[in-house]
Amino acid sequence: MPADRRPETPHRPATARVFFALWPPAEVAERLAEIAGEAAARFGGRATRRDTIHLTLAFLGDVPESRLAELGDVAAGVTSAAFEMSLDRLGFWQHNHLLWAGGEMPAALDALHGALRKALTSNGFKVDGTGRSFAPHVTMVRKVPPACQLEAGQEIPMPALAWPCQRFFLVRSRLSSAGSEYLILRAFALD
Ligand code: ATP
Ligand code: MG
Repeated sequence: MPADRRPETPHRPATARVFFALWPPAEVAERLAEIAGEAAARFGGRATRRDTIHLTLAFLGDVPESRLAELGDVAAGVTSAAFEMSLDRLGFWQHNHLLWAGGEMPAALDALHGALRKALTSNGFKVDGTGRSFAPHVTMVRKVPPACQLEAGQEIPMPALAWPCQRFFLVRSRLSSAGSEYLILRAFALD
């Protein structure tokens, strides 16, 4: 059928699946990827690849592409202090079969999360998980099998790893059969 005779497809605005995140410096990503690989070898599951390791600050899901510039501008207006995280344990969440890395998180991380969420929602962006408390974590292994010998909520100590945070990022996620692909759209400096 000639193109001009095809039944019209309903118009759907192009959207992007986006989130805000902290991205580790190369040497921290390298070390975390090693730890993730060791954990996956020990417990099963799929280790996060080095270049996709991150900590999500706010997940928006689908946003019209036409609003991405505005979304970036709202984040650029957030003022929050730079800080350092110390990751010193792996934790297991049974409900979503995840092993994550975490630790005692600095108050400045909570402050950044709060300021970002507030700026986004007051500018008409919907942030997922509003009302739920922020559970900062770095996903290390996905699809941990039921036979992994870990108990729900179990935590395993690991040598502390310092992750300096001087910037945060707006990231686009593209889902594919090979797992999610992330594209950093914009970076924002912390004070
Ligand atoms: P995959 O879905 O392939 O396992 P992923 O979860 O990393 O990969 P996305 O689903 O695009 O990729 O999610 C991007 C980030 O946002 C991840 O850190 C994910 O944990 C987080 N995220 C996804 N959905 C939500 C949600 N509904 N609420 C809060 N955070 C979310
Ligand atoms: Mg996901």
